[in-house]
Amino acid sequence: MMYKISQRAAVLSPSLTLAIDSKAKQMKAEGQDVVGFGAGEPDFDTPQHIKDAAIKALNEGFTKYTPASGTPELRQAVADKLKRENGLTYKASQVIISCGGKHSCYNVILATCEEGDEVIIPAPYWLSYPEMVKLAGATPVIIQTSDRTEFKITAEQLRAAITPRTRLFILNSPSNPTGSIYTPEEIKALGDVCVEKGVLIMSDEIYEHLLYDGAQHKSVASFSQAHYEHTIIVHGFAKAWSMTGWRLGFCAAPEPIAKAIDAIQSHSTSNPTSFAQKGGLAALTGPQDHLPKWLEEFSKRRAYAFERLNRIPGVSCVNAKGAFYLFPNISGTGLKSTEFCAKLLEQEKVAAVPGIAFGADDYIRLSYATSMANIEKGLDRIEKFCIALKK
Ligand SMILES: *Cc1c(COP(=O)(O)O)cnc(C)c1O
Repeated sequence: MMYKISQRAAVLSPSLTLAIDSKAKQMKAEGQDVVGFGAGEPDFDTPQHIKDAAIKALNEGFTKYTPASGTPELRQAVADKLKRENGLTYKASQVIISCGGKHSCYNVILATCEEGDEVIIPAPYWLSYPEMVKLAGATPVIIQTSDRTEFKITAEQLRAAITPRTRLFILNSPSNPTGSIYTPEEIKALGDVCVEKGVLIMSDEIYEHLLYDGAQHKSVASFSQAHYEHTIIVHGFAKAWSMTGWRLGFCAAPEPIAKAIDAIQSHSTSNPTSFAQKGGLAALTGPQDHLPKWLEEFSKRRAYAFERLNRIPGVSCVNAKGAFYLFPNISGTGLKSTEFCAKLLEQEKVAAVPGIAFGADDYIRLSYATSMANIEKGLDRIEKFCIALKK
């Protein structure tokens, strides 16, 4: 039987991370002692009061459809959060609750982009952005960066990449995979260019709360009314509340875009899981005291890994100021990222994600969302591996 695969699906790149990930899982299942740096999620449990809220909702029979864009109370709680923490005024009707931040990103791109449109994405990028743009029929336009600029683009670079076809600019600060952040001044300058050129900004702020060394987060929407009108904020519960498996995220957008997303969602997924939304409500309105503890732990691991990586021959690493990733440059080892990661897994049983998956082949991504003992053991092995390469 010959199956015709749609052009839409056929143009997608298969996930490069998947091959290594499934190999690592298979090795673990065979009882091998694999150290995993691949995790894209916190290793902490969801705070208890959030779980309790979902359990209570289940027990009380909150198990039916909700409005497609989420419960009014959760949409209002998101609007309240955006006011309280970001100084931004949104009505509940401008907030759409979706099945994860990833789903929110996809909705935003589907609602704003089509065939002939260009979407500007700085690399290294979160690997799903370009594929989502392709699914919408639009064209990703990549701006390359390197560790020399802490993986950041300038306003001039953004301006130079804009054409009459540019529809959207994707901003992700703090960044997955690099952990780098733009300063408020830099974010304003990028926003200024988009306002001047009439380009929309999708600002993925899911790592907003995971900041180190006194770094500040400021949403691009907050600089002026014009910035606000050009911005769609994407966010979610996965990272700061460790709720990856709950599949709950949100976006906040100008009213006409929110309406379009509401329509898309009402005909595709309908509402995000009812009782997960009750957990999300508890996450936003309940105590936040888990966060300083997590940040302290992440910060210790980051400092240790950063220091160790920079002493490994052939490896150099700029420090990350946010998220839970480091993105070391491995070009001094003479290997590109796919070969580096495949050999590292085979020879030393360490799983890392090749940078090529994020559009940066001279780097690998290490997540420190794993125990300090694992980090120590894993770095010992990476060091041994790189020393052997030099011989
Ligand atoms: C984790 C992540 C998301 C959203 O993840 P969900 O699990 O879908 O909520 C969005 N953007 C980036 C950059 C991420 O790393």
